[in-house]
Amino acid sequence: MNLKFKNTVKLLQKLPGVGPRQAARFILALLDKDQSELKELGQAIANLKTDIRFCRECFNISENSHCNICSDPKRDSTKLLVVEKVTDLDSVEKTGLYKGLYHVLGGSINPLDGATSETLRFKELERRLASMNNEHKSIELIIATNPSTSGETTALYIKDLFKNKSGLTITRLGRGLASGSNLEYADEITLKHALDYRK
Ligand SMILES: [Zn+2]
Repeated sequence: MNLKFKNTVKLLQKLPGVGPRQAARFILALLDKDQSELKELGQAIANLKTDIRFCRECFNISENSHCNICSDPKRDSTKLLVVEKVTDLDSVEKTGLYKGLYHVLGGSINPLDGATSETLRFKELERRLASMNNEHKSIELIIATNPSTSGETTALYIKDLFKNKSGLTITRLGRGLASGSNLEYADEITLKHALDYRK
């Protein structure tokens, strides 16, 4: 097979959930596009890091320094829900049930993947909680990491990190989320249950 084709397959396989066959299908589909469309896609990818910014408070994807959730005064600023990824935030947000604020960690603790307590946004989480606590409110920290091994490790780490913090209640998304399942792919009803039965 053509070496450049093979190399492009390898590049696409670096994306989550993309295997060699799917990567090959993507490339064949791309080959059917006009050159101008391919250029547009290429440019969009090349400029991702400069064009797309993250909210300074919660690390959601944002057009401004603060995302539309953080800058919405109607959101409940006594609740902070911690997720692994922006896609998890989107899933919870789609239920329309949660009116509090978020914190996106950037992944879960998984040293084999190079994701540790140092590389994830725990320091930012500590700072955020400190500033929320400053207003002398009682804060609920809702852990919504995935029910996977690394998600569990992360949840335990967060509990341990804040166990002695006053004015803070730590809860965890409740039943309904099957062990090993992914928040990102949970259906809305399951997520609603998990939010309602947090403990
Ligand atoms: Zn934000």
